[in-house]
Amino acid sequence: MNNNILKGGVIAVLLLAAASIGLTTAQQRPTLTAEQLERLTIRAVPGKEGLYLMPGFDGSLSGGNIAILLTNEGVIIVDNKYSYSYEDITRQVGSVTSQPIRYVLNTHHHFDHAGSNASFMPDAQVIGHENVRVNMLRNRGPSASPDGAPRLTYSDKTSVHLGGAEVEAYHLGCGHTNGDSAILFPELRTIHTGDLFIWGDRLDGSTMAPFIDYDNGGCARDWVATLDQVLALDFDTVIPGHGPLLRKSEIRIFRDKFEQMLARIRELMDSGVSRDDIAAELDISDLNWPLAPAGVQAIYDELSQ
Ligand SMILES: [Zn+2]
Repeated sequence: MNNNILKGGVIAVLLLAAASIGLTTAQQRPTLTAEQLERLTIRAVPGKEGLYLMPGFDGSLSGGNIAILLTNEGVIIVDNKYSYSYEDITRQVGSVTSQPIRYVLNTHHHFDHAGSNASFMPDAQVIGHENVRVNMLRNRGPSASPDGAPRLTYSDKTSVHLGGAEVEAYHLGCGHTNGDSAILFPELRTIHTGDLFIWGDRLDGSTMAPFIDYDNGGCARDWVATLDQVLALDFDTVIPGHGPLLRKSEIRIFRDKFEQMLARIRELMDSGVSRDDIAAELDISDLNWPLAPAGVQAIYDELSQ
């Protein structure tokens, strides 16, 4: 066994240990400052009647963004943060409507987006892509939530009609996972992208970079094409998986950065840079995406296939 393999093995074990610690603690309710709690409080989406946002800035302190559509026949929500978030969500939604939450759509299966599915199930239909269900039933460990696997699934597209409003869920290909959906509010020309598109800083101030969940069918190779299909939909306002309310132009910026990143990795590979050296050789500092070396190597492995 050469030294690099040994070192790689030790690092992989350390990363795994760190990840499982992260996942364990992420399921416990963090203590937030008054200022952070204010940033996470439900608010109306400006200019979009009936649409609200429970903001989310990261996957460890705040969970993902929740979109909330009020109708006179009930409420549709997209994503639901952590397993412990159910009471907080129902209380905050209850502060803007007396209507019940009838439908819960998942952008993907991760525990910071779909963590409280199971708590909603007695009173609401939980709907997700078929791979959301598959991934939730397969995954084991502290962050897994097989009880929350959606009972209603779809392969490419589905719609929910309630109170005269329509919400459309589109699975447009591989990216963050193999079960990502972009959720469109067509009348409001607003989309929730899940983690196919994330933006800005976490609550702790660190910068978010795209994460390819290879254990759950994610891929870098098709991510840009998937985003091109998202961009082909008709909307002007964007709720990212994590980050502030944005416009369509920011998805284009993210898409172009992703394409740049892949092109630079491919270029290094074509010039013979090895897996061991790829992370050190790659310069993406201008993209402001702090990718871990193991993440760059995982993309190298994918593109080598
Ligand atoms: Zn995610």
